[in-house]
Amino acid sequence: MGLSLGIDFGTSGARVIAIDSSKNIVAEVHYPFTNANFQDWQKALFYLLDNLGDSVRSELKSIAINGTSSTVLLCDNWGNPLSEAILYNDGRGIAFLEAIKAIAPPHHPVISATSSLAKLLWWSEQEIFSQARYFLSQADWLAFLLHGKLGISDYHNALKLGYDLENLCYPQWLENLPMFNLLPEIFAPGTAIDTIKPDLVTRFAIPKDCLIYTGTTDSIAAFLASGANSLGAAVTSLGSTLVLKLLSSQKVDDSNYGIYSHRLGNLWLTGGASNTGGAVLKKFFSHEELRNYSLAIDGEKESNLDYYPLLKAGERFPINDPFLPAKLTPRPDNPLEFLHGLLESIARIEALGYQRLQELGANKLERVDSAGGGAKNPTWRIIRQRHLGVPVLLSQQEQAAYGTALLAQQSVTLLK
Ligand code: ADP
Repeated sequence: MGLSLGIDFGTSGARVIAIDSSKNIVAEVHYPFTNANFQDWQKALFYLLDNLGDSVRSELKSIAINGTSSTVLLCDNWGNPLSEAILYNDGRGIAFLEAIKAIAPPHHPVISATSSLAKLLWWSEQEIFSQARYFLSQADWLAFLLHGKLGISDYHNALKLGYDLENLCYPQWLENLPMFNLLPEIFAPGTAIDTIKPDLVTRFAIPKDCLIYTGTTDSIAAFLASGANSLGAAVTSLGSTLVLKLLSSQKVDDSNYGIYSHRLGNLWLTGGASNTGGAVLKKFFSHEELRNYSLAIDGEKESNLDYYPLLKAGERFPINDPFLPAKLTPRPDNPLEFLHGLLESIARIEALGYQRLQELGANKLERVDSAGGGAKNPTWRIIRQRHLGVPVLLSQQEQAAYGTALLAQQSVTLLK
């Protein structure tokens, strides 16, 4: 039947997951890194393939890769990077914000110091730029290492470059830029591009008809992993921060709140990210305390403590106030009561977030899958369900590599 491979390049490492035709995981390999650049990515990619095992490699029929959104590279005619990649959170493009505002539509996600477009404009003023032939996202370059084709990307990685997701073309305002010829051709995520390169067939003993597909970004891949695919289905990620994603028929963009929408077939994945979340819990409690105290809390009972848990002042979504102060008082002596108040308050912020997305045009919330470190807390799920008023479930799969394996397998029904 053949196996499909999803390869995730995230912020803290790379991971590969192989799935069979029943979507069961048959192999998984992880390669940790921090602040890695293209030399490390290439090493990581080959390490993952090397460590999959002969029996898995010999059954491979499809591969896709997801990268970190807005991690970008400038390459020469042969795909050699001309300098270090610019990573997702690098804000050097800030000097070009006004220039972008002058050409892009209001509220467009390119209007950000860390957008791919801001990074391209920054590069355009560097000396090496005259040698540039291709501007690529991390996932595009890694896929090139597998299929050997340059100048190819997908509409998830191209969102923060300015690609028009409604009309599926580059907009005129982008075509007018002098460096437009460096931009990749854009395909839907999960489009077959070519078979794997012959030298890799020899090196890894992978079948020569194994197809390489266009990929996606890490956060979309994590959403795909959850399997959520109906209107009003949402995934909340309870990691260090609180990230909401809601599947909608309406596109919602509001740069004031940092809200934007990714295209998923004929639907839109709208979302926003709050600065509250697990990082604040971690400041006050160990993992064991979080688990044990939570089990002793009655989630059906409302805590009347009303906090806004933040590590430092400032919030974007669901409240846009760069100076919003953290509110963590009054703090009761009993740590159980304090934790109850924190969990309750983050749940209120989550509910306000989904309310905000719906006010701005997203579909009615129907169900919420939960991912990230806090998702496994059953008491919190009860508290959250009280505030959200819809079923709150635990995602069966949440690894981006799993979502990307589904993409490679062509089993993401939304994209068909
Ligand atoms: P990230 O990838 O964003 O760093 P993770 O998804 O690994 O984060 O989640 C880690 C977070 O989960 C930590 O900030 C921690 O506070 C939180 N967390 C861990 N265990 C629990 C728990 N039992 N209840 C609530 N939150 C938890």
